[in-house]
Amino acid sequence: MNKIEHIGIAVTNLKAAGNLYEKLLNTTVYKIEDVASEGVKTAFLQTGPNKIELLEASNPDSPIAKFIAKKGEGIHHIAFEVDDIIAEMARLKNEGFVLLSDEPKKGADNKLVCFVHPKSAGGVLVELVQES
Ligand code: ZN
Repeated sequence: MNKIEHIGIAVTNLKAAGNLYEKLLNTTVYKIEDVASEGVKTAFLQTGPNKIELLEASNPDSPIAKFIAKKGEGIHHIAFEVDDIIAEMARLKNEGFVLLSDEPKKGADNKLVCFVHPKSAGGVLVELVQES
């Protein structure tokens, strides 16, 4: 894996959280995107070389709604950039990690993504990200 691509943070209100993180990081939200397939609305901020993805549930069945009901707002996942998501998924599967999908999915920011189940990754939801 190349580097941390972004950190995902679950929030209840994208607008309010966007304002908060703009103040905190002294930067601006540069993109807002609806990822209907995942039931989330996302906002991106950049600070130096690093990206923060804010995630708000867009429906009650969204994984973000379930996460917030269980754990409250906060860090939701860490995304790592990979060159070849198919090869990386195969490697992780071989190593015994549990992937949340058999195929890469279209994620926010025009990327191909796949999640690794937190139960197999030390309690952390890990996202693989490849530029598409
Ligand atoms: Zn993400």
